Amino acid sequence: MPFDSFIGNSKALASVREMVAGGRVPGSLLFSGPDGVGKKTLARMLAKALVCERSEGDFCDACPRCRKAEEMFTAAEEDLARRREIKEAARRVEGLVYFDFQILEPLTRFILTEQLRQLRHVAYTRPFEFPRRIFIIDDAQTIHWQAADLLLKVLEEPPETTSFILVCSNPYELRPTIRSRCLQILFQPVAESAILELLAQRERLNETQMVLAARVASGSVAKARSFDLAAYEQRRKPWLEFLGAVTRRIPASSAAADWRPLFDSAKALAESRDDFEAALDIGYSLLRDLLHVLLQGPQAEVTNVDLLPRLQAWAAGLGLQGIELLKSGLDQAYRLQVRNINQQLGLEALGLEVWASARALGR
Ligand SMILES: [Zn+2]
Repeated sequence: MPFDSFIGNSKALASVREMVAGGRVPGSLLFSGPDGVGKKTLARMLAKALVCERSEGDFCDACPRCRKAEEMFTAAEEDLARRREIKEAARRVEGLVYFDFQILEPLTRFILTEQLRQLRHVAYTRPFEFPRRIFIIDDAQTIHWQAADLLLKVLEEPPETTSFILVCSNPYELRPTIRSRCLQILFQPVAESAILELLAQRERLNETQMVLAARVASGSVAKARSFDLAAYEQRRKPWLEFLGAVTRRIPASSAAADWRPLFDSAKALAESRDDFEAALDIGYSLLRDLLHVLLQGPQAEVTNVDLLPRLQAWAAGLGLQGIELLKSGLDQAYRLQVRNINQQLGLEALGLEVWASARALGR
């Protein structure tokens, strides 16, 4: 899979290719931009291109060196995964071994001092198999503050045989002293057209479903690749029931039975607890869609394209005020969830409030 197989971010790709072709890869690079757009993928491609035996200024993924590089990255990732499973944090860093091509990632919430100590130790030694070492530091913003000094010292005295590629979503979470030592390459969300092309090659989705997948992915190749339509619909279902119940026309002399669907849907929402954040994301995306449809009509560019007629009906039923209420209710549910309090209470209260205001508005 040579450079041409990289999706999106053509400017970042061009910069990297230029460096490789000109033999001018700096000692420290910073790849920054949103999650899932290919920063780490391009870092690995760059590393391979530096050692490939067959392709000048590119890589073949098939020669012994390319395969060796791939093995090293895979081994590094497996080692990280194995260490994360170890319960005692101190034991996770025991006996660290770094290959010529190495990936560093947080072993706890942080990239730990010991990981950086080992990096510093190895960086100044001769590589084993390749002319050069490449250390990819993923989620570089998670480097523990006590460890950041170690990295800074290494960047200040760049080792002759090692290059560093720092990867992070927000470069401003890095210390300015570290950031300023790196040549920064910026990544952007990937264009919807490129994501649709990718989906068309891989998925058995119809046109509407592909647009839905692309919009849910919102510029992330990784999200588009892992999009699971059935799982998405499953997670979205309680929201649809909730919106259906909230917007149902309720007569002024409503019987008690009218409340049940609202309670049931609120309950179903609150029960999707293990994946509450993903469920909440869907809630917000539906509310954004409702707002867009309300303001722009059926031409609005919505995420949930497969629901357009329903979105229109709900938007009309809720009005701006109803949508605002739901939004503040979701914010509240999010805050409760962060504090680990029963979300169902929040969602039920939210439903009742919307229902009451809808009645007051004479809907
Ligand atoms: Zn090769």
